[in-house]
Amino acid sequence: MIRSNEYKTATDEHGNHQSAGVERDVPWVAITPVVNAIRVVERMVPDGQLLFDHDSHDLHTTGSDTGSLKLDALRARIEDFVAWANTEAATHGLPNETIPPDPNGKIGTARFRRSLAWHIARRPNGLVALAIQYGHLRTTFVAGGYASRSRDGIHDLIDIETVRAVADTVADLHDDLGAGGGVSGPAARRAIKAAATAPRFAGTVITATTARRLIANEDAMIYDNPHALLLCHYKRATALCHRDGVKDTPRVDHCVPGCGNVIRTDQHALQLRERATALDTRAARVPGPLGERLRANADKLRGYADAHDRTRITLTEDAG
Ligand code: SF4
Repeated sequence: MIRSNEYKTATDEHGNHQSAGVERDVPWVAITPVVNAIRVVERMVPDGQLLFDHDSHDLHTTGSDTGSLKLDALRARIEDFVAWANTEAATHGLPNETIPPDPNGKIGTARFRRSLAWHIARRPNGLVALAIQYGHLRTTFVAGGYASRSRDGIHDLIDIETVRAVADTVADLHDDLGAGGGVSGPAARRAIKAAATAPRFAGTVITATTARRLIANEDAMIYDNPHALLLCHYKRATALCHRDGVKDTPRVDHCVPGCGNVIRTDQHALQLRERATALDTRAARVPGPLGERLRANADKLRGYADAHDRTRITLTEDAG
């Protein structure tokens, strides 16, 4: 748990600003690599200084200053990070991991935050460590105590990116159904109705306000969950992923297979079978209980795909 002080919004019980800051109500939940990184930074700055203390980190700027790293230094850090990542990609022969030159110039802090929001919204189960951290960020920023107190900056960006991701998912489903594709699962009929509303997104400029309105509209929101190979037409009342209270958005990183919000498409059925075949291939190389577990998992995935084929409905059948 990472605890810290906040300054800008720090007030006492009478509403007076407290310039010395107060501890945030909601601590950050971090995974081990983040904690280790903080331990390293703690050793780089004098005792009692900010972790990103200007004087300790901003070595290119002459003259002393108070507070944390300034924007110029942060921008330079982002550029340095890109250079470092590209050198690592080249060293390990991973050209696909290279960060390409940006046609819009340097990334800067605003676009960096936007990228962070994009990842939180769209990669809930990408790289495992990042997924966990992004999941915590989403919980902390969006569903946690911050949300009710101050919704600005990153909160708005996460809402906007979430709705943009949903708009893409709904548009794909709309096209898929239009081309004769089928859907299955307890939320299949609801999904067909929601997909018909795809133009609702196309005609909307997604600002923080429209994003909040759309997120609150359960009929409109379908979330992609590529890790679980399903779509989630989120309804709070039937969601199995929230044991600890009602939230605005699903926890797709904690998706529970028997949930009433699940939808599967023909594409998911294909991918389930591909994943099952890959698991069988691995199982053939692993003896004993681990191999058996992999095979059992493969059977379960094939079972989901078969259930999809048996129960799928299409636009025409739904209308009939
Ligand atoms: S359990 Fe899965 S399908 Fe159900 S609401 Fe949560 S993420 Fe969506």
